[in-house]
Amino acid sequence: MGAALHLAHAHQAPVKKRRPKRTGGGNGSQFAEIAHRIYQDDRADTQTRQLLLALAYATTMAPLDDDTNVWRAACNALGSSITDWDGLRSQIRHDLPRYLPPGYRWGSDRLDQRCRGPRIRMHPDGPDDFRNQLKVCGEKTSDKVVEKDPITGWHTNHFFCTRHRDHLQRVAAQVAEQNAVAPPPIPNSGGLLPSYFETDWVWMYRWADRNQSWEPPKVYGLCADNWPVPGRDPVTVPQRARLRLVVSGTDLEED
Ligand SMILES: [Zn+2]
Repeated sequence: MGAALHLAHAHQAPVKKRRPKRTGGGNGSQFAEIAHRIYQDDRADTQTRQLLLALAYATTMAPLDDDTNVWRAACNALGSSITDWDGLRSQIRHDLPRYLPPGYRWGSDRLDQRCRGPRIRMHPDGPDDFRNQLKVCGEKTSDKVVEKDPITGWHTNHFFCTRHRDHLQRVAAQVAEQNAVAPPPIPNSGGLLPSYFETDWVWMYRWADRNQSWEPPKVYGLCADNWPVPGRDPVTVPQRARLRLVVSGTDLEED
């Protein structure tokens, strides 16, 4: 795995020095190597990729002086829309390491806020309607039972309308024991900044989230590199995948 680059806190005042720390044209090959990793990283969405690239540029290439620390240089690289700390805050906040439960992103689940009670009669909207295809009641509702996976801790929502309240109670009783012993959920969002750059990320995420009581994900920690991806081979983490290419057959057992 590539070494993470060290960053000072965003709030730290630039150190007063007579001469510029760097006048530009810094370490181009180091930037190229990190940029390559970032472009390969399919965990990063567009917004996070922009921030990672800007920080990589700021730490390796950007001219730094008394008024421009790496964070300010990263803001400059990100463009005029992010010339103040609020912009940087929201960019970093977007990378907050956390578990996002189902339904957090709109439209990701057809049965989000729809009753899963059984459908006995055909819905008049025709055979292609989801209620007929899935043979569910489909009524809009916000009453749900959350089922926690015993291995990943990930949530499955079971929604039921008032007509299917008995189903809701039965499912709630079925999952109560399993939920009580379920592990903390494996994070599935954010945590990429610590994969590339070293700094006090707990401090930075608290600063970005304006929340001093924010805590890193339990068990799995801050860094997305350390989170298992359920149902997916962990070699999809780019820097690890790249290292595996140089491992010969006899070394594989030690991997
Ligand atoms: Zn229903």
